Amino acid sequence: MDAKQPDTHKHVIKDVLKQYLQDKGFRNTPERYTILEEIYNMDHHFNVDDLYLLMMQKKYHVSKATIYNTIEIFLDAGLIRKHQFGEKTLTSSSYEKSYFDKQHDHLVVYKQDSDREIAEIIEFCDPRIQGIKEAIEDAFGVTIDSHSLYFYGRKKE
Ligand SMILES: [Zn+2]
Repeated sequence: MDAKQPDTHKHVIKDVLKQYLQDKGFRNTPERYTILEEIYNMDHHFNVDDLYLLMMQKKYHVSKATIYNTIEIFLDAGLIRKHQFGEKTLTSSSYEKSYFDKQHDHLVVYKQDSDREIAEIIEFCDPRIQGIKEAIEDAFGVTIDSHSLYFYGRKKE
């Protein structure tokens, strides 16, 4: 994944948001575009606190309530996706950009960190999953829009 998105990508995601806000009758506030741009400049999973800290570091004055609200909008607009990586990760739910993002799945690896167990998130891409998807589409005569697959485990001793 490239940290820098080509400019055309930025236009597309902004248009998606603009259209969504218009369709839903939501206000077209500049903060929403700034938050969207920051998310698309990120190259990893994030949670609300990460995003809030990032906005503060960049001297954008956005409340946490606005961030929560904006995340709900982006989810509904299909601009980001939400993960439930489990309680042992440092964050129970994480988000990531979903447009132009290379299809990938997640491996949650538990490990001991001093006195507590934490989970590391590893992304992987296996073309066989695409093959399974196509086989299911053919078998059931459906078009699959999305899927959710998580593997949970621990490092072999
Ligand atoms: Zn991911």
